Parts: sequence; C-alpha cells; structure tokens
Amino acid sequence: MPLVTSKEMLLKAQAGGYAVGAFNVENMEMAQAVLAAAQRMGAPVMVQTTTGTLKYAPPGLYAAMVGALAGQAALPVAMHLDHGSSLELAQRCLDAGYTSLMIDGSLLAFDANVALTRQAVTLARAVPVEGELGTLGGKEDALEGSTLYTQAAEAEAFVRLTGVSSLAVSIGSAHGLYKGEPRIDLDRLEEIRGRVSVPLVLHGGTGIPEETIKACIARGISKINFATDLRIAFTGAVKAAMRDKPDAFDPKAYLSAGRAAVEARVCQLIALCGCEGKA
Ligand SMILES: [Zn+2]
Repeated sequence: MPLVTSKEMLLKAQAGGYAVGAFNVENMEMAQAVLAAAQRMGAPVMVQTTTGTLKYAPPGLYAAMVGALAGQAALPVAMHLDHGSSLELAQRCLDAGYTSLMIDGSLLAFDANVALTRQAVTLARAVPVEGELGTLGGKEDALEGSTLYTQAAEAEAFVRLTGVSSLAVSIGSAHGLYKGEPRIDLDRLEEIRGRVSVPLVLHGGTGIPEETIKACIARGISKINFATDLRIAFTGAVKAAMRDKPDAFDPKAYLSAGRAAVEARVCQLIALCGCEGKA
C-alpha cells in the first residue's frame, strides 16, 4: 500500500501498549531488509533517515525506494525524517513524499525550540511532527552531547505550545554505543506520561537491555529508534562475507549478506517492541 503517516500507527501503539519500531536505513539493502522483516512479522514500521544520511543521498531517492517497497507490501509503512536539522530540510522531505517528520530543536533554549518546532508543525500541515525536549548523551550525526533529562512540566507545556504529534524524551538513553549499562529513569518517564497526551518516543534504543526496553514500553513509550544496531549488523555481515570470499568482486555477493543480517535483527527488534502482528 502507499506510504502512510506515522500518526495513526503511533496512536494505535499508544492505545495498545506496544511500540512501533523506527529503523534508520542508509542504503537500498537496509531499506529492503527493514521492509522484508516487517512483512515477515506483520508489523507496522517506520523507516527513517537522519540529516547526515540525507547528505549521503537526497530525500527523493529514499522516499522513492521505500515508497516502491511499501507499494508491494500490505503493511502500514511511514517514511520519517529523523533529527531534522532545519525547516528547509523538512520542506525538502515533504516535497519528496516523506510522511512523517522530526524537527530537532533540543539543543536550543526552550523558547527557541518551541518556536522552531511550531513552525515545522505549521509547515507540515497533515504530516505529523515529532519534537524533542531534553538532550540525549552520545553521538547523533555531528552532534555530541551530555544528557539533559526532560522535565515533565516542561514537556506538557512544550506539547501544548507546539502542537507536535509525538515527543522524543530524554530519560537516560544515548545515541551510539553505551559505555557501561545505561540508567533509564523510569519514574521520570511515568511522570512525563502522566502529563503528556501524545505518543512518546525513545531514541538510542541500541544497547538498552531488553527488560528495560519492555519496562519503557509498559510505562508509555510508543516508538523506539534503532540506528546503531542495524549499522553494526550490516557492516559486520559485509566484513565477514569479504573475509570468507576475498576474491569476490560483485557487490551483490557481500551486500546481500548485510541485507540478510539486518532483516534478522529487525525481526528480533520488532518482537521486542511487541508490534508483531499489529499491521
Ligand atoms: Zn535520535
């Protein structure tokens, strides 16, 4: 079916007490793998690209590729801009056919973040917008920072003032790989959930223990982002394939190994999110 927005699938997840997996892709093989996994699991899915990925290849290319794959599947698939850095990029993604946007003003002061996010909501019209309040530790594209936890009262005001459809919160997760065990503040999450009506998003899903992921979902997380996890699966399998057959020169030979590894990993993550069979 054609690409759908992320609005309904996230509201259904919120009502159903599970999370939608949102998977970052860099190339055709990863997009094929995510769609194949979602189809195997009968799950709604969000495919997303960061600002950095959209410097590697333009939004039109990803939207066309994922749109074509979604067209062959009987699943709700949303194409999402992850960590949108500017209104200009948000507009380019809308023009290319993206059906979901994130605008990331989390490094700005509260008022400036509200102003930017509100502008994105106006620009996007019917396309849902994810905002972010608080900052995650770790690395996302070129941004690197320390954790600044989301405050529940601020989150409530932020959602009211901006009109966002979903909100990414900072509760102790980080982008990239964790040094040691992440400390996720579940009490804070519960407090935010009590004051905010829209679906909540957890970034930095890679490396959080499975029990903690499940606890986050039980306390109201409706979307979980996985990026590093898929990069590791893809690259690990490609390296292994090249080691096994150092004389191979056809890209299909080693890229298909990466694709299969990502598909297997996404199936596991969909099961972890509890969205198997929810398409
Ligand atoms: Zn993120």
